[in-house]
Amino acid sequence: MEPEKMDENEWSYHGEGNKSLVVSHSKSCVVLRFLKFLPNRNKSSDEVYQHLHNILDFGKHIMKQFLGENFVHQGEVVKLPLDFLKRLCLKIQSERPESRCEKEMDVSGYAMCLPNLTRLQTFPFLECRPIFSIEIKPKCGFIPTSAHITKDIKKKICRFCMHQHLKIAKGKWKKVSKYCPLDLFSGNKQRMHFALMNLLQESQNNLKVFKNGELIYGCKDDQDQFLDLNELAHHLKSFFFPTNGLVSGHQCTKTVLKELIHILTTVLLCNSTDTAKAGNMNPIPVSQGRTYCRGSHFCPELLLSSKNVMETTGLPKGCILYKTLQAQMLDMLDIEGLYPLYKRVEKYLEEFPEERSTLLLDGPYDEIFFERLKDLSLEDDGSIAFAVTKIQQYRVAMTAKDCSIMISLSPALLEERFDPRSVIKGSKSSFIHSVSILDLDLKPYENIPHQYKRDSKIINHYLKSIRAQD
Ligand code: ATP
Ligand code: ZN
Ligand code: MG
Ligand code: MG
Repeated sequence: MEPEKMDENEWSYHGEGNKSLVVSHSKSCVVLRFLKFLPNRNKSSDEVYQHLHNILDFGKHIMKQFLGENFVHQGEVVKLPLDFLKRLCLKIQSERPESRCEKEMDVSGYAMCLPNLTRLQTFPFLECRPIFSIEIKPKCGFIPTSAHITKDIKKKICRFCMHQHLKIAKGKWKKVSKYCPLDLFSGNKQRMHFALMNLLQESQNNLKVFKNGELIYGCKDDQDQFLDLNELAHHLKSFFFPTNGLVSGHQCTKTVLKELIHILTTVLLCNSTDTAKAGNMNPIPVSQGRTYCRGSHFCPELLLSSKNVMETTGLPKGCILYKTLQAQMLDMLDIEGLYPLYKRVEKYLEEFPEERSTLLLDGPYDEIFFERLKDLSLEDDGSIAFAVTKIQQYRVAMTAKDCSIMISLSPALLEERFDPRSVIKGSKSSFIHSVSILDLDLKPYENIPHQYKRDSKIINHYLKSIRAQD
């Protein structure tokens, strides 16, 4: 990227979340990811530079160890000319959804340059072929069992299902999503199918579909947009059934979506060959009762073979869902068990503020930091070291609970010889695929009190609203 040649006309608005805004390049397969700030809360350009580096280091040295080489992509921090940034910021402003505009794009001079994951990464030479990418933000896939939990309901109904009630009440979404992360993470094909169908029907911000890098389905905003399943099926029809003269209509939509869900399930359960370093850590056991949520709309009676539904996770050890779930489960104490440890550290820092850097609370996120994450013991000896280890594990878990999985599919022609592991067979055609994880930002230490308050707010609201229903 040559600074003197930066032309805002080659970049267009791609999407944004709560913390960052993304623009994509029209020709090369890269995106720029900018930080966002509330007006007048901007950081200095040095602070932004440091923060972006921390995010990348956290992805590279920490999250990659948990999630595996193949799934996590590298980026770099780039310096950009200020006049380019000003023009770009103006250019994209009108495309930003209103609900996201309370924060502004950072124009202090630095951004992250990342591969555009809505274009197939593994096979860049196939760029001219159609490509569909499906982004799923799965959220937390297990029920916590920590002894510190004071509200019994948390051990029965998952966070996502409870949070729905608050989101609807606050008007964030109009309709309840019947998606439950525990169905997706179950490894049971019927439950996964049910979860993915519900994600398609009420995507909220948990599912997006891109065609050739452009958003064609899912919420750009918190309002319903692009949400016509018939239209989505229409886009996908010739992709999945190239030779078949499927007529449009209800039956066609059903067939196409079934095919999409089948392929997504296959990819999500696909074993990756790479070895994540954290693979050497003892896996966190997924005990009975942690894999089924009573808030789920899935009826177990629906299961064809109902024997081992609610027992083990059934996720193959190398698949992306398994790895994501293992990282999420580093939250072993739950926020209720963690918050007192945060207060312990805060009290200590009041007395010894200079110790903050030795505790590595703000990084550096390197090998040493990773080594300190490995201790999974839950025996609290009252030490600061124990508290810090649990806090850092919690931050990794929170990142894994908030990341997105991007699955890209492009047609594979019969005569081509690809590594068979990258080919996914549909019923009428084959696809090469790639899977990546994005949004691996570290969650700040300072966020813990906020998380604690939010947890009780979600639970209290849930209990209140089900009492009102009775
Ligand atoms: P959140 O509010 O979920 O924490 P965020 O502010 O951290 O979001 P991201 O999720 O990283 O922001 O980016 C916003 C959106 O931009 C993503 O949902 C995705 O659609 C798109 N995006 C981000 N990074 C990439 C990438 N490398 N390639 C393609 N699209 C991307
Ligand atoms: Zn649930
Ligand atoms: Mg995101
Ligand atoms: Mg994020």
